[in-house]
Parts: sequence; structure tokens; C-alpha cells
Amino acid sequence: MNDKEDLWLEIPSYAYISLARRGMEKISLDQCFLKGCDNEDLKLLEPFKKEEYEEENKQIKKIHIKCKKCGGIFILKLVTLKKVAKSTKDENEEPLSMGIVYSLDEKENSLGHIGYF
Ligand SMILES: [Zn+2]
Repeated sequence: MNDKEDLWLEIPSYAYISLARRGMEKISLDQCFLKGCDNEDLKLLEPFKKEEYEEENKQIKKIHIKCKKCGGIFILKLVTLKKVAKSTKDENEEPLSMGIVYSLDEKENSLGHIGYF
């Protein structure tokens, strides 16, 4: 079993960006998020480390990825908000579980909010 390949299974293929009234835009997470790098080739990306922990009502997963095109390392931070007890009053509540994905650089400085998964 190859652990490094298995890390791809932890990464959603797409994130969704809300465009307000124009709906959602779908973007691939199979790309390098470092500034100045345009790598969108999956073969040039190598996830090599995973961290997973819980924080209050969130589950956080960080996947460290090396880009073989620019030689940099970035981190995809996947935050899943855990289910909240459903209110008995409101039948039209938001979906109970949602995920947000952020990109970070090697030193964990935020590169920005990518979208939802
Ligand atoms: Zn890159």
C-alpha cells in the first residue's frame, strides 16, 4: 500500500465558490495554490503528509502537498463543521454538515479561502 497515493483520497476533487446570485463556480483542487505558479497537473503534485485534529465543533484536516513545478510546498486545510443538534423549531435549516477549504503556505500563513466542499 502506498500511503502517499492514499492521501489523494482525503482531498476533495473540487471546491465550490459562491458567486452570489450567479450560483456556484466549481474549481479543481488539483492545482498548486502558491503565488506565481500555474501548475494544474496532478502528476506534478505530491501530497506527503496529513494532520488531523478536532477543535470545538470542527474537524480539521491538513494535507501538505509538494509542487514539483515550482518546488514549493503548500497546505490544503479542510475544515468540516460538525453536525449541530437540529432545532425543533425550524424545518428549513441549512445543511447540517459543511466543509470549507483554505490554502496555506509552508509556514502555515494563509493564502486564502478557496471555497466549500
Ligand atoms: Zn507550484
